[in-house]
Amino acid sequence: MVSVLNNHNSQEAHHPNEAYRTALDQFRRAAAYVRLPEDVKEYLRYPRREFTVNFPIRRDTGEIEVFTGYRVHHNTALGPTKGGIRYASNVTLDEVRALAMWMTWKCALVNIPYGGAKGAVVVDPRQLSLSELERITRRFASELIPIISPHSDIPAPDMGTNSQVMAWFMDTYSMTLGYSVPGIVTGKPILLGGSEGRTEATGRGVIISMIEAMKYLGWDNRHDAKIVIQGFGNVGSHAAQYAHELGFRVVGVSDVSGGIYKENGLNIPAIIKHVQKNGSLARYTDGQNLSNEELLVLPCDVLIPAALEGQITEHNAEQIKAELVVEGANGPTTPEGDAILRERGITLIPDILANAGGVIVSYFEWVQDLQAFSWDKEEVFRQLQRMMVKAFDYTTTISEKHQVDMRTGAQIAAITRVGDAIVQRGFFP
Ligand code: GLU
Repeated sequence: MVSVLNNHNSQEAHHPNEAYRTALDQFRRAAAYVRLPEDVKEYLRYPRREFTVNFPIRRDTGEIEVFTGYRVHHNTALGPTKGGIRYASNVTLDEVRALAMWMTWKCALVNIPYGGAKGAVVVDPRQLSLSELERITRRFASELIPIISPHSDIPAPDMGTNSQVMAWFMDTYSMTLGYSVPGIVTGKPILLGGSEGRTEATGRGVIISMIEAMKYLGWDNRHDAKIVIQGFGNVGSHAAQYAHELGFRVVGVSDVSGGIYKENGLNIPAIIKHVQKNGSLARYTDGQNLSNEELLVLPCDVLIPAALEGQITEHNAEQIKAELVVEGANGPTTPEGDAILRERGITLIPDILANAGGVIVSYFEWVQDLQAFSWDKEEVFRQLQRMMVKAFDYTTTISEKHQVDMRTGAQIAAITRVGDAIVQRGFFP
């Protein structure tokens, strides 16, 4: 048996990894403004449950490899836990802890009845055949059965997973129970109980919050703004597409292969076609090629980091030219990067608000599954727009009340809701 156990997670709370350090730092900043008993705040710093599994999978070569997976439930005060499953070769338990905590704040901020969770498998999905990807997904789903259900924890896609992975996940759970349970995951194909608009939802929500921010800042000629998007996965590509549909000018985009820039605006439909055909942006020629680092500091008005964590740091925040940063990714800005943007007066729409469109439509999908009644796309997008704008307005109200930046305001709003729910429910036993 070949063992490839990737236990490079740091269990010691004293040395959290970068994403977890960021999540805890953001919490500390915001919690200082929240009127809650100190012991309730202390409780909120910890994940409620953490589940680690190591499971064997037969590779196409016939060899058995052991893979590691995680599922973390951060908090359940507002309802069952909700959050995606990430497949990545460098993912750690600490990173999943951070992402689960952000899901708690995200759901609370946009007022959907969920707590936060996240899951991951330590694997690079690009190194797997389709049948290996299916075997890993089915085995991971079956390993999670003790801690998931439509009423306790509902996974969804995240980086490295998609609607096909969710279909296998749902089928594995359903086969085990003996009947179909569409409400066990969201982000499924529409035929299997997925929702209209779920695929586009996160990117669309990013652009809705960008527009609300432009209005809030009083930008008159909004359509003259130059937009740069880092990341061309599910979030970045749909954000670019929706921005293009609304007549905005996207001047720069990138993916793992690098970036492309055109001052007068890129041909987004052509880029989407190129990526669908070739698998990445590489060899797209209509524009100037540049690196991901160069892309972040391009001359532009709006920067949308929609790739990975830890992209805006003390090393590049000083050089960022955008006046508005809209976080499509989870945790793209480190505490040091955040402080520099704040000092420079750059407005930042935080991840838990800007990218909440995905989990909002996941919530609609779950509601549709539980009721066995599906909505049309117009209804989904109308409700998405309504909830995003409401959360945006709530965030600005709380930020103005406390005279703080939007990240701190959004976190104050979320922590207050979760904390109040804990206090109202009381303590068991
Ligand atoms: N993975 C997405 C996020 O980070 C969506 C989670 C969900 O839909 O449950 O928000």
